[in-house]
Amino acid sequence: MGNTEGNLQWVERARRHIPGGVNSNNRALPWPMAIVRAEGAYFYDADGNRYLDYHAAFGPIILGHNHPAVNAAVREAMERVDLVGTAVTDLEVLLAEKISEHVPSAEMVALCNSGSEATYLAIRLARAVTGRPSIVKFQGTYHGWHDAVAMNVISPPERIGRKDPLSQGMLQEEIDHTFVLPFNNLEAVGELMDSRSDEIAAVIVEVIPHNIGCVMPKEGFLEGLRTITHANGSLLIFDEVVTGFRHDLGGYQRICGVTPDLSTFAKAMANGYPIAALVGKAEYMERLAPGGGVFFAGTFNGTPSSVAAALATIRELEVGGVHEHCFQLAEMAANGLQEIASELGIVMTVARFGSVFVPYFMEGPIESYEDLLRNDTERDIWFRRSMCEHGVFMLPTALKRNHVGAAHTEADIAMTLEIARQVLSSMP
Ligand code: PLP
Repeated sequence: MGNTEGNLQWVERARRHIPGGVNSNNRALPWPMAIVRAEGAYFYDADGNRYLDYHAAFGPIILGHNHPAVNAAVREAMERVDLVGTAVTDLEVLLAEKISEHVPSAEMVALCNSGSEATYLAIRLARAVTGRPSIVKFQGTYHGWHDAVAMNVISPPERIGRKDPLSQGMLQEEIDHTFVLPFNNLEAVGELMDSRSDEIAAVIVEVIPHNIGCVMPKEGFLEGLRTITHANGSLLIFDEVVTGFRHDLGGYQRICGVTPDLSTFAKAMANGYPIAALVGKAEYMERLAPGGGVFFAGTFNGTPSSVAAALATIRELEVGGVHEHCFQLAEMAANGLQEIASELGIVMTVARFGSVFVPYFMEGPIESYEDLLRNDTERDIWFRRSMCEHGVFMLPTALKRNHVGAAHTEADIAMTLEIARQVLSSMP
């Protein structure tokens, strides 16, 4: 964050033609920064500052930036076929087969371009299959920016238990048709199902709510959702946009052994290329076929460069060793941070699963978003911003997760811990 001339110039130009200077509300930073290069575990700003990247673009970057095998596959695809937009490409068939091979719930696969599109489609399909209007989501989960789900993520205390839409301009009827319940609370789900059984089309759940860091499902919670939805004739949708491919080639569903009706994947599936998938039971997915009654379209669906990137990413993950490497380094980072905090007498609970770790500035246990209201937001943001100032990029927003990728090394983690010790030692 030294010398800000280059960054300032780009940011000023960006603000003139791009609302807020960023192409996502979630990308705004409290200091001027423009990115000009990314490679391996690092990215570089317009003033030549280098950052060790734990943000991973909110999760897609699992192999490291600018990965040679992914780049080569994209180049090869680009030289052979670009978007034709009729029939199907060989690449799309190969990818659908690959996803079906790995993901337990993936009897069939529909490709689109973003996580939001995938969850939108999942909800439309669930409504069509059940003939019911409403869905259930959980406080603290994020499923994209569309009206059915863009609510109750990081809510202020006074909005908990009420609707907390993320945006103006959302249709009230859509908001009304989404019920928001506390995560890890099966009783609440059971009660709602009892009172509104014939209204609920689906329960959509981030299997691990990584949009508030790393809150693990309690033993029996996902199994319970499976039982309750099945008994009620509602569909169970696992949103594996973050967890898919990052924690396992088969998603968290393969780890936990619970198979939903529908699931959504994106992010780590293609190491940064825009692609997403809705997968699920054939009897439901067939409804998306022409004449099946549920409209599914998209000019860019299955665009060859992204499909090639996904195939190459999955191939790299299949070779083995990537997950083990990431998990081991994330464990080193999480344990190291926890030790430093306790040596310095700082209240901190580091949560981790797989390659994802998050320091919360509070005592555990943490089972739901409601528990996270005890997090010391000021300290959380101060810590992240100070790490960024020292060249270690942890998104300077409270509760956000850090990702370790294949390009991170033990030396990177050791450097991170050294800097964290310095930073935490001077915490006000
Ligand atoms: N679902 C989850 C769990 C996510 O974390 C996100 C994005 O962060 C989405 C869906 C939406 O994906 P996208 O931003 O690609 O539309």
